[in-house]
Amino acid sequence: MGPRRGPPIPAVFSARLKGDENLFYSTHSFETVILEKDGAIGYKPEPAWYIARCLGVHDLVIKGGTVVDPSQSLHKRSDVAVLRGQIEALEADIPADQGRRVVDAQGCIVTPGLIDLHVHVYPGVSHFGINPDVHCLARGVTTVVDAGSSGADTFDGLRRYVIDVSATRVYAFLNISSMGMVSPQIGELEDIRFASVERAIEVCERNRDIIQGVKVRLSRVIVGQNGLLPLQLAKRVSEAVRMPLMVHVGATPEPLEQILAELKKGDIMTHCFHGGQYGILDKQGFVLEKAHDAVTRGVIFDVGHGKGSFSFDVAEKALAQGMVPGTISSDLHRYNVFGPVYDLATTMSKFLLLGLPLDEVVAKAASTPASLLGMSDKIGTMRRGAIADISIFNLEEGSFRFDDTMGKTRYSQQRLSPTCVIKGGKPFASSLPVSI
Ligand SMILES: [Zn+2]
Repeated sequence: MGPRRGPPIPAVFSARLKGDENLFYSTHSFETVILEKDGAIGYKPEPAWYIARCLGVHDLVIKGGTVVDPSQSLHKRSDVAVLRGQIEALEADIPADQGRRVVDAQGCIVTPGLIDLHVHVYPGVSHFGINPDVHCLARGVTTVVDAGSSGADTFDGLRRYVIDVSATRVYAFLNISSMGMVSPQIGELEDIRFASVERAIEVCERNRDIIQGVKVRLSRVIVGQNGLLPLQLAKRVSEAVRMPLMVHVGATPEPLEQILAELKKGDIMTHCFHGGQYGILDKQGFVLEKAHDAVTRGVIFDVGHGKGSFSFDVAEKALAQGMVPGTISSDLHRYNVFGPVYDLATTMSKFLLLGLPLDEVVAKAASTPASLLGMSDKIGTMRRGAIADISIFNLEEGSFRFDDTMGKTRYSQQRLSPTCVIKGGKPFASSLPVSI
């Protein structure tokens, strides 16, 4: 925009900014006042970050950390400035006295707020449920996807009693079973009448701001005698509402190849490194041809660690054959939050141990899930103007024990340990010094 001409800004709406005699700020816009040659007054709009710099005020400055933001291929020492809930600037040196609040992140890793694509956060209704603010947000995860805890009959409660009142940003994949994951005694798809295509479509359509996909769990104990029929029904919903399908595999009634054949670009197979029957490896330990084909056509292989779905041996063999997961998620729930999962950072640490570089691990828990949610410009990134969701970690050195779900233990010299989390520009939990 070029300068516009007009009358002076009424004093009641404006204030002269420090340091620049010609710079005014009004409640509606930021403008530089230009005295033109003919004596007229012009106004040149300025971006908010520029004005804030002239004012010497950022809401928050994070000092001294190393920013790892794969969305911009960034891995460098940088300060971060936040203004009005958005990322305002990444620069080598932003003076601490320009921040209303300052976080001392010396020696820490600073990343976009993590996004966990697979958790269960409907406590009191789903027996798997945990509190997202305690176990996700306080552990560096600013956005989560509840993966099928609720179905068409129970989603309204998830929305009202969890999503609307949590500090964590919560999205949902709707279970094709209308009850969701309510009962530990009976699989949610043993009675196929729970898989109502019409009801699921109706609830997805009504809640497009929150529901981002359709979930189906295909283990034998969940589908009973119904084989792959629940998959077909979930697929009908996914196609009707044009949302991805997330399929839970492991101990399924049919081989993995038959399930993969139903998945298209953008669909997600969770529990990709489970160690049970019908996994991604054949009997000789080679990755199935059909699994490579699925990844090539754009199916996302998601970790979904969980209580019974992550094998170090399977992951190691798969990675050695170039089968890298698309997303790293925890499948955090009531039965694994006190081990072996603990939190998403612990699952990420396991992939550092398996040899993935830090930048790649962060990408799979930030920028990639953000793009699957269609929110790459807002979350999972520290680009200027993005929502100021930021996680700060210590990359600890020492000897740390990690367990998979097959009884195998490994030790690592490194561990990602969450030390501070900022959601929408506000510090939520921190063991680092934050000035007030
Ligand atoms: Zn799950």
